[in-house]
Amino acid sequence: MAEDGSRKPIRLAHELPKKRKIEISRALEQHKSEDRPEWDRDADWSDVRFFRKKIKPGTIRTVEFPLLNVSLGDEWPIPVTVIHGNRPGPCITILGGIHGDELTGPSTCTNLLSNVVTDEGGALDPRSLAGTIRIVPVVNLPGYRSKSRYFPDGRDLNRQFPGNPKGSTTKRVAHQLFENLIQDSDAIIDLHSAAKGRTNMPQIRANLSHASSHLLAKSFGIEIILDSSPPKGSLRYSANEIDIPCITYEGGGADFLGNQSVKVAVYGVLNVLRSLRMIPGQPQRPKFRIMASGSSWLRAAEGGLLDMFVSSGSIIKEGSVVATISDPATPGISVDIVAPEDGLIIGAATNPFTAPGMPVGHFLPISKHFNLLEEQIDENGSFIISGSTDNPVWRDETDVNEIELWGEWSGGSVDSEWTGKYAEEVESEESDPDKN
Ligand SMILES: [Zn+2]
Repeated sequence: MAEDGSRKPIRLAHELPKKRKIEISRALEQHKSEDRPEWDRDADWSDVRFFRKKIKPGTIRTVEFPLLNVSLGDEWPIPVTVIHGNRPGPCITILGGIHGDELTGPSTCTNLLSNVVTDEGGALDPRSLAGTIRIVPVVNLPGYRSKSRYFPDGRDLNRQFPGNPKGSTTKRVAHQLFENLIQDSDAIIDLHSAAKGRTNMPQIRANLSHASSHLLAKSFGIEIILDSSPPKGSLRYSANEIDIPCITYEGGGADFLGNQSVKVAVYGVLNVLRSLRMIPGQPQRPKFRIMASGSSWLRAAEGGLLDMFVSSGSIIKEGSVVATISDPATPGISVDIVAPEDGLIIGAATNPFTAPGMPVGHFLPISKHFNLLEEQIDENGSFIISGSTDNPVWRDETDVNEIELWGEWSGGSVDSEWTGKYAEEVESEESDPDKN
């Protein structure tokens, strides 16, 4: 229902900056006019090969994929499951664990590969699938084994794409992945969680002026979409560079396995597959969508112990207390951090040890239609994201209210940006609060 109680769709003012708006709509217009492959259901469709292994139509196979192309030493094999459908269609690649300590992706992939999903009659039954799905639960398996975000050489794989066969160890891995898994994909979903000490509410990040990524982002079926140009060297950046649609899903935090973020990710992946007409059924859509081009970081002004009053997903009103900082060495004094305006906490600190300047909350100011959010909260004041409950609804695309929010990325970019020497070698927690 609309705000005034009527059933008319809400007319929303567009607040994205004019320049960006034009850029986005031009890209979408051009995309509409471009020729795209029509997946002829009767066309010839045969075996697919992945790393020298053959997969027949209507079957599923797990292939060991070496991250390093070597004849001596450890080649770091990782399992890649290929679900090859009975009918023609696109090839979609779903990746988890590019950062070895982020477990939302691996768990989502495990769920998608469970027997109830892939067996006869399941959502990913290869016999009713059109196209090919490649699922990689843990890309950075060496990092995962050592419970680390990084590769064994200390580098962040998600800053090394498209890689280099003659570069650093991690650059070689990036190259191997890019050559064999990325560049022949028709669409990519990259599953992440917040870095250590933080947690994210489920959200999508995409470059909205890359039309096919824009459509992919919307088809995921959740409310929060951040328009962010990806950091250079990230998988998303490199895929977009060669015009492959790619979105990043963020949910939960490192070293933590949250049921909600996994559930929403599974829901979103299935929605994408339905939108691409790879699996039967209608995609679910949210009641409204927030396409945001700005967020800000609430940071601690003092050091000490952080007591959070909100968590990721909390809806907060201007002036309400988000957290309080006290120091056991200085009893009796505490300092509150208050919400600068109405909005949504899309990421929150989970580590109570805090120092001045440390991010406490990733805050999305909601300048209009705040009531839509308020209508969709649980008893703790947290926003109920689509896909997190058991009864998602089906809605026509034209019934989705689109809210465009404009702002500046302040206090740290939403995706990390690394420049100069940091681009290659170092990552410091302080430089960017929201590595993904
Ligand atoms: Zn990540």
